[in-house]
Amino acid sequence: MAMCPACDHQVRTPSFLNLDGWKHLRCPYCKARLEMKPPRSFLLGALIAPLFVLARQGQLFEIIAFVFLFATIFLVLLESSYPKLRLRKRPQAKPAVWLKFNNPLR
Ligand SMILES: [Zn+2]
Repeated sequence: MAMCPACDHQVRTPSFLNLDGWKHLRCPYCKARLEMKPPRSFLLGALIAPLFVLARQGQLFEIIAFVFLFATIFLVLLESSYPKLRLRKRPQAKPAVWLKFNNPLR
């Protein structure tokens, strides 16, 4: 469950792995199209590689690098299971090709 930013009602959100569910997510009360705010803890991921380079300098740095790695993974999973919502601003994708069928019933 997450809060709709438009009408402040609780909205049932799909699992973070269910991409199709997120693509079509709408608030059932105000019909606003919603999307997940990207988890901020992804930004910590950029520091993992430099920390593991630093970890070659000694065991203390190695421990710090591993603790940081597991803390980052934990924070990403935690933020993904309690997602925050924002209004989707991009227009819905239009199909590149339209199929025209001759309707025999007309
Ligand atoms: Zn709403």
